[in-house]
This record gives sequence, structure tokens and C-alpha cells, in this order.
Amino acid sequence: MGFLSVLSMAHRLVQERVQPGDAVIDGTCGNGVDTLFLAGLTGPRGTVYAFDVQEQAIARTRERLAPLAEEGRMPSLRAVLDSHARIREHVEPALHGKVGAAMFNFGYLPGADPSVITQTRSSIDALEAALGVLRPGGIVTAVLYPGHEGGDAEAAAIEAWASALPQVAAQTMLYRMAQKPTAPYLIAVEKRT
Ligand code: SAH
Repeated sequence: MGFLSVLSMAHRLVQERVQPGDAVIDGTCGNGVDTLFLAGLTGPRGTVYAFDVQEQAIARTRERLAPLAEEGRMPSLRAVLDSHARIREHVEPALHGKVGAAMFNFGYLPGADPSVITQTRSSIDALEAALGVLRPGGIVTAVLYPGHEGGDAEAAAIEAWASALPQVAAQTMLYRMAQKPTAPYLIAVEKRT
């Protein structure tokens, strides 16, 4: 039957930890697929932050979630046209320490400008900020693309960051197809304290 794909594994890990009414973050909303998934988990009482630096991505995400409003299933959607490195500044202070999950899908948006690619420095700042606003038991997922140009260095830096987190603060996990070194892979970080 094969193993779960990297994206399905990320969804599984998030689904197990997010409850209706939660606040969550999509750090790289792109086409809004993960944002829609998160909205389904939080339901109309939840709050979903969606970050992207491309207007096109914010527009596509709003469009993808629009039908939820008609069905009365729309969470409070905060679409933010800014870098995910500034998560702390955009997530309202009352939600700091309460966020259930933050999902990241790094690299570039297929079908859009491939030069708008995530950058190692801001990616690590974003992961750090996301971990900071999580509640204990909350999770950060990061899908990495070592096969893209520049993606290999970013993936290695993020892996080093995750590996160096103190075990009392967080538990980290790597999910990767061992025979496919250039395939996308997943790092998940569960906050402990
Ligand atoms: N690589 C994935 C898609 C990633 S989409 C795939 O192949 O399916 C990554 C998204 O991150 C893009 O929409 C891009 O605009 C966005 N992005 C790039 N830098 C960002 C930043 N600093 N903050 C927030 N979003 C960013």
C-alpha cells in the first residue's frame, strides 16, 4: 500500500493536534490548499492566519476559502501579505502561546514566479517565531525541497536548526523516503514547554 506521502503525513500530524476553535497558521499559503485544510479543522470558531509575500497567493487562498462562508464554516481568516518571518508581529498577542499548529511548505509556488522562493534566513526566523507562539503540545510542520536549486541548502539549515532544539523544549521528527535523497521531506516539531 505504500507509505503516506509527505504532505499527507503533515496533515495527519496536524489533524491529531488541532481542535475546533483553535488558532492556527499557514506560513506559506501559496494556492491555499493547506489553509483550507486548517480551516476545516478549526471550524467557524477558529482563527486561521495565512501568510504569503505574493498578492496572487493571498488572492488564490481567499478564493479557495470563499465557499466556506456560504456554508457557515468560515473561520476568522487573517490573510497577511508579509513575510512569515514576522509571524510574531501579526499574530495577536492574546493568541501567543495558544496556537495549535503552524504549517510551512517551502520553495516556490508552482505556476507562479519561480524567483519568489523561500530564503533560508527568513525561513528559520519564521520557524522560530512559529514555535514561539505555539501552545505546549502544538506542532510545526515544514515540507522541504532538497531537489530545487537553493532548496538543498535551505533544507540542510532547517534540519540543523530542528536537530539543535533542546529536547526539553521540543521534540523533532524527520519523515523522509530513504531511497530518494532529492524528494521533498518533512520535519515536524512538537512543542513541549
Ligand atoms: N514548493 C511547494 C509550494 C511552496 S509554495 C510545491 O512545490 O508545492 C511557497 C510559498 O511561499 C509561495 O507562495 C511563496 O510566495 C511563499 N513565500 C516565499 N517567501 C515567503 C516569505 N518570506 N513569507 C511568506 N511566504 C513566502
